[in-house]
Amino acid sequence: MRYLIGRYHEVALKGQNRWRFTAQLKRNLLDLMGDYRLGTVRSEGPRLLVELPDELPDAVAIERGALLFGLQNFTLSRAVAPDLKTIEHQALAAVHGTNARSFAVRTRRENKNFPLNSMEIDREIGGAIQRALGIAVNLERPELTINLELFTDRAFVSIGKHPGAGGLPVGISGRAAALLSGGIDSPVAAYRMMRRGLRLDFIHFHSYPLLSRTSQDKVRDLAAHLTRYQGRANLFLVPFGMLQREIVARVRRPLRVVLYRRFMLRIAGAIAAQTGAQAMVTGESLGQVASQTLDNMQVIERAAPIPVLRPLVGMDKNEIVEQARRLDTFETSIIPDQDCCTLFVPRHPETHARPDEVDAAESGLDIDRMVSDAVKETERIDLIFPPRKFQPLLVC
Ligand code: ATP
Ligand code: MG
Repeated sequence: MRYLIGRYHEVALKGQNRWRFTAQLKRNLLDLMGDYRLGTVRSEGPRLLVELPDELPDAVAIERGALLFGLQNFTLSRAVAPDLKTIEHQALAAVHGTNARSFAVRTRRENKNFPLNSMEIDREIGGAIQRALGIAVNLERPELTINLELFTDRAFVSIGKHPGAGGLPVGISGRAAALLSGGIDSPVAAYRMMRRGLRLDFIHFHSYPLLSRTSQDKVRDLAAHLTRYQGRANLFLVPFGMLQREIVARVRRPLRVVLYRRFMLRIAGAIAAQTGAQAMVTGESLGQVASQTLDNMQVIERAAPIPVLRPLVGMDKNEIVEQARRLDTFETSIIPDQDCCTLFVPRHPETHARPDEVDAAESGLDIDRMVSDAVKETERIDLIFPPRKFQPLLVC
């Protein structure tokens, strides 16, 4: 029988709340593997043990395992009877055909009554592999590591360890609405907050048909990519062009961007009230562009009905780009499009907006009506990864 064995990340440190974290992680795993019928899923000490069905290819298990926040690392392991001969047989089968020129065996004994200690088992199994396959032991820099985990009723044999996604299981920290522009920063911001255990709704403001559909297409792709980390997500596409026209008709040029942003936060707040989101996430970074000054951030945030989280606030562009590349969103983000906030804006927007002038500019606007019109016209797209075939069966 083949298993995915995950080792908990910070989850392991959570003391009395631990069961909540492991329960969430299990639910997330079942979602993530929703198109396969898994066997039992159980938590044993610092590990998550997942029985994998034969039809689930190794490559898929590895790809999906790497999307599961809350794991430090994981292995794909074979379970065998916990006696030395059987373990040796399985270890040989695992190494055979890998073309490795050096290897090391690393044993962890959960069953302390096993007749040999960990180092003796390393030596015993390592010696057998060396003799049978003629490859060298290298404890410092092995090409291949064979992991053995010994329990009372069985032993697990695996080759190598795969890095986990780290962080906290999605959902454990609550729910938030992430504002996705289609640019480089916002997907990175969303990812970072998912990794802190937030389940996200995605919101995009577009000015179609005044501008092209490109930003919507990009955001659909980006949101689908991010949804792989949480299984399901709502993407809200908010038509923003009409509202922008109203602002243009009544507000002097330099303040328009600030007002657009304030309306985005109000509308996002109204959507969040429907989904139960308790905060918003943006990709703002202090001073990155003229509009992201502390004055502007402050005056924009005053319109937000719930807290605004800015995970990138202290990062510079190079750091963000590096993360976007690792996250594999960069190439989509840099596809040229027309940002809705560049519509009807001057070349020199206000960089130090004052609350009194913003209030004055908004005094002629029917704010509640403008917000509810935009919410009414919003399209909701249900994103799901992967497509489901089975109802999950949870065994604790
Ligand atoms: P990004 O790379 O995420 O577009 P940016 O550096 O271009 O960020 P701005 O355009 O000032 O910065 O936007 C700041 C943040 O406001 C974005 O990161 C995003 O969270 C939000 N935002 C901006 N425009 C939109 C939009 N059209 N729809 C949804 N959110 C938006
Ligand atoms: Mg942008």
